[in-house]
Amino acid sequence: MGEKKNGETLYSWRKVRPVIRQEQCTGCGVCMRGCPFEAIYREAGEYRIRYELCRGCGICALDCLRRAIYMRLP
Ligand code: SF4
Ligand code: SF4
Repeated sequence: MGEKKNGETLYSWRKVRPVIRQEQCTGCGVCMRGCPFEAIYREAGEYRIRYELCRGCGICALDCLRRAIYMRLP
């Protein structure tokens, strides 16, 4: 982990976070394979995000053809 300052990790650049609309997800797995930080995993048949690994790059939201992922301000 990076150095902490005022509760924030210094190298962290997450300003927004991805949210998965489960009802729109087809389970294709594209988001999980495309995340450069391995922050998406599958559990109980759903794709979920490990926010402690996510950098907020938005690639998963762009990759999802179903638009099941959107980026939300904290
Ligand atoms: S890319 Fe979209 S539809 Fe595919 S598993 Fe991820 S959230 Fe679901
Ligand atoms: S925003 Fe980037 S780091 Fe976070 S889950 Fe999506 S692809 Fe991975």
